Amino acid sequence: MVEFQNVSKNFGSTQVLHDINLKIDAGEVVVIIGPSGSGKSTLLRCINKLEEISSGALIVAGMHMTDPHVNECDIRREAGMVFQQFHLFPHLTALENVMFGPLRVRHSSKAEAREQAMALLTRVGLASRADHYPSELSGGQQQRVAIARALAVKPQMMLFDEPTSALDPELRHEVLQVMRSLAEEGMTMVIVTHEIGFARDVASRLIFIDGGTIAEDGEPAELIESGKGCARLQEFLQHVS
Ligand code: ADP
Ligand code: MG
Repeated sequence: MVEFQNVSKNFGSTQVLHDINLKIDAGEVVVIIGPSGSGKSTLLRCINKLEEISSGALIVAGMHMTDPHVNECDIRREAGMVFQQFHLFPHLTALENVMFGPLRVRHSSKAEAREQAMALLTRVGLASRADHYPSELSGGQQQRVAIARALAVKPQMMLFDEPTSALDPELRHEVLQVMRSLAEEGMTMVIVTHEIGFARDVASRLIFIDGGTIAEDGEPAELIESGKGCARLQEFLQHVS
């Protein structure tokens, strides 16, 4: 589903990703952890072409990112993204936010888009909030709408960049619960998060990024609990847990 081959990424003269090799298969739930500034967001953003890679090759859902015939829309249709700040359209209701993509991208009819959007809002527990505007929803509810919106174009995989970091602790659970159910349904997911408990319980694979390189890649429970990870990972885990 995703393959990084010797990928590097620079911003000007600063190299942010160093020679990344990473293969993610369909159905994997990969959690990425690492210190602030280590390149987690950049790696995720390369997957749906919010950032261009500087060298190497990156293949996503069979598309080569450096192929000039592959455009952002094709990639983003297959890789839905959820951000820390929910980025909903403030002038659209929850339902209209979820309908927006299918109407644009998948060329659905309005009735079809509405029916599907209602089903998605129901799935994230927000059917009763369909006609509310983002400003009328809690952060946890807004993030669940954002997840429904990303799912609406039927992506092959979902990318999450610290989806719960902007939320009060008591609202995180409802978002993590939705993500957990997606994982159980077999969705391919790449998740940057500091929620170590979620990583241990839900992820099939844990990646620790440090200084723009993959420092660890393995079984979550093994890396988190057994102390098998490198010293930098142990130190990082002590700070976040
Ligand atoms: P993380 O998500 O792990 O905190 P990022 O991927 O956001 O890290 O950033 C990695 C490094 O790249 C940081 O040093 C950051 O300042 C730098 N960086 C990120 N985006 C840009 C950008 N658009 N322009 C210049 N530098 C950037
Ligand atoms: Mg980040």
